[in-house]
Amino acid sequence: MITEEQAKKDIKELLEFIGEDPERVGLQETPDRMIRMFREIFRGYDPFQKPHITTFPNGQDGIVYDNMVVDNGTFYSLCEHHCRTFFGEYWFAYLPNPKGRILGLSKIGRVVDYCSARLQVQERLVQDVVQMLTEALGDEYPPFGMAMMMKGRHMCKEGRGPRKTGMMTSTYLTGAFRNSAEVRQEFLSYIDVK
Ligand SMILES: [Zn+2]
Repeated sequence: MITEEQAKKDIKELLEFIGEDPERVGLQETPDRMIRMFREIFRGYDPFQKPHITTFPNGQDGIVYDNMVVDNGTFYSLCEHHCRTFFGEYWFAYLPNPKGRILGLSKIGRVVDYCSARLQVQERLVQDVVQMLTEALGDEYPPFGMAMMMKGRHMCKEGRGPRKTGMMTSTYLTGAFRNSAEVRQEFLSYIDVK
């Protein structure tokens, strides 16, 4: 394990490498700030910060729900190829099993945040989220399927290299979302992107 002191030294050297003087006033605190920032934006490597995913027995609130649940939100991550930000919107859906469990709505966003807080590729990020949420629902009466779609802007594409604005779309579909065109179509109909 590399120490914090060593990491600060390495950041200083990196600053020198890009042509900076790490000792100038504006940069003196930068390695410290970067270390603190890394702890925050890379908390997804820390198993102790893994969100606890609350689930409820379907029917607990007096109704058994077996239609599609769709949730939408934003994500913010870093690409593992360039360590540059990619961010955008996600759409998540699942079909609860009437005998199984349902997800606490706020937990979906927490799982997205946790899985985003490490070096990622968008193709893996959609899978990581679906896998974590699938596990949380247990395998006795698993949901009939899950879907995750992400649309992200990648700064490694926009701020360097090709310098093109635009969104990348990645999806991960399981169960009915993968097997049934009708279910997939219903999910896609909830997605309103200009
Ligand atoms: Zn990249």
